[in-house]
Amino acid sequence: MHPRFLEIEITGRCPYQCKHCYGSFPKPGELTLQNIGDILNDAREFFDCIILSGGEPFLHTGLTDMVEKASREFVVFITTSGFGIAAQHIAQIENRAVLVFGLDGIGRTHDAYRGFPGAFNHLIKALEMTRGMPKEIIVTLWRGVISQIDDIIGLAEKYNAIVHFNGLIPVGRVKDNPEIMPDITELEAVYAKLYRLKMNTGNVITNLHKVTAQDCSQGIELFCRGRFNITPEGNVRPCEFHCTVLGNIHTHSLRAILNQASQTPGIRCRENGFKGHVRTDLKNPFDYHTSICHKVFSQQ
Ligand code: SF4
Repeated sequence: MHPRFLEIEITGRCPYQCKHCYGSFPKPGELTLQNIGDILNDAREFFDCIILSGGEPFLHTGLTDMVEKASREFVVFITTSGFGIAAQHIAQIENRAVLVFGLDGIGRTHDAYRGFPGAFNHLIKALEMTRGMPKEIIVTLWRGVISQIDDIIGLAEKYNAIVHFNGLIPVGRVKDNPEIMPDITELEAVYAKLYRLKMNTGNVITNLHKVTAQDCSQGIELFCRGRFNITPEGNVRPCEFHCTVLGNIHTHSLRAILNQASQTPGIRCRENGFKGHVRTDLKNPFDYHTSICHKVFSQQ
């Protein structure tokens, strides 16, 4: 069975303005330690892994307590830019969480993309501080990072990190920055390269998927199967890239929201790999998110 992830955006605070940000952070909203306790109580029967994200989760003063609580029953991941990590955080979370760092290029490429001078240095400092912790570097495949893939793999090896290349999903702030989307030719080339790297190296993984004829009959093998997301305002959604709101934890329990959501056509279809809804004539065969998934949910 594949692991089921609950991604919780614990805060809307973030100092960066990344060009691909799915949630257009920073924005208002923050979940309390009490909220997280209630969520975890209900999450037990639905999920295996908890991702604490933001915004920038290290800006939330309750983060280490949340990790302590969540790690008693779940595998815990923290997604971070590296901004705001301090030595006392490490002492409290090591052996309890896997760190997932966002990297969008080397040096100034990363800074410019994140809209924050010094962002790359913050990240390197955080990688140095967390040498002893399990970690992953996550790279979103925007046009300008493709030529830096080899350098990024080298950097990941230096810090003993797995490097995970994800397709860019055209939601959130991407709509204001259309020039960052790679074209189909670039995606075809990077897809072939990543597949080779994945087969021949021990530390490269990728979620980039190209829709095939087999997906039509069997469904797509999705990384988001079993996944849900909670925003800083408490909205429960199918994933962080999807704007459909399934309920709010401030008015209903997470258990009730998920039980109801599991009966909706959109979630049932997603859990079935969109079998019967996959078309092979997609304008962009790498984008099943907005060209298949969003359409299915909009029809429910
Ligand atoms: S396919 Fe849908 S549910 Fe899955 S990651 Fe894409 S937008 Fe989210």
